[in-house]
Amino acid sequence: MQIIDGKYISNQIKQEIAQEVSNLAMQGKRPPRLAVIIVGHNGGSETYVANKMKACEQVGFVSTKIAFEEDVTEQQLLEQIQVLNENPQIDGFIVQLPLPPHIDEHKVMEAIDYHKDVDGLHPVNIGKAVLGLPCIHSATPSGILELLFRYGIETKGKHVVVIGRSNIVGKPVANLLIQKDFLGNATVTICHSYTQNLREICLSADIIIVAVGHPHFLTAEMVREGAVVIDVGITRIADATKKNGYRVSGDVDFDNVAPKCSYITPVPGGVGPMTIAMLLRNTLHAYKQNQK
Ligand code: NAP
Repeated sequence: MQIIDGKYISNQIKQEIAQEVSNLAMQGKRPPRLAVIIVGHNGGSETYVANKMKACEQVGFVSTKIAFEEDVTEQQLLEQIQVLNENPQIDGFIVQLPLPPHIDEHKVMEAIDYHKDVDGLHPVNIGKAVLGLPCIHSATPSGILELLFRYGIETKGKHVVVIGRSNIVGKPVANLLIQKDFLGNATVTICHSYTQNLREICLSADIIIVAVGHPHFLTAEMVREGAVVIDVGITRIADATKKNGYRVSGDVDFDNVAPKCSYITPVPGGVGPMTIAMLLRNTLHAYKQNQK
């Protein structure tokens, strides 16, 4: 069994991006610029945004945080998005989710200029991804494919079971894997809360990608010997022994599943760091398009 070290791979990717930024500086060009909009004071979101801004600094990007209070109106948010859309100095931006219930997330996503949509969540980017056209891919799914690629894990002809059908993980990762493409060509089964015989379906999988949000959801009797397991789940569990008062759990019963796997991602340190690395890569891509 080999652990897929997402932290190591994400650092490698960050170094590659930092090298490109330093090459740009040598050519007298400005660095890429990312803006992050955050609404309210959700602890998880604040941590994610802080990590994203820190990662920008590590690779030499300029980042700007735009923070609104919980009671910001949808209109105010849409106006801010328009300002960023029209600012040629901003290459890409994201709106940290979730948003408060009085704001329509779909409306917000659609308001973003899709060329600057470095989270890859705009319907145009998602539609292009389905058609297999060049576009900005959502960060977590492309991070998963990058991990498989860098560990030499074949997807062609393999049966991949994706558990979870969210718009940010399940659907887009399944879409990438069925593409007639170098990192695709898999046979994909998407499972959700209405799926029957989940255990049997999982037992026929070469690769299982689980994005459910329930700790220890994937147990050893659902995994065949030699399978690859990718754990996307991130759930905070109260833990008084930890400095910040919680620990993070994935969706896999790691201790019992890992011995059966050929490869497995840990939580933390698996898919999570890759999401930020792919956001940086998407921002660099948007910058290059913006400079054309
Ligand atoms: P989500 O919107 O929370 O939805 C969960 C999915 O799991 C749904 O499709 C749901 O099915 C399915 N599900 C729930 N119970 C199930 C069951 N008993 N059997 C089979 N399927 C079941 O999904 P998400 O936003 O993708 O998040 C999932 C997890 O990934 C969360 O822990 C989240 O924090 C984490 N995440 C991590 C990253 C990262 O960077 N590592 C990025 C994004 C999300 P229905 O559709 O039928 O309800």
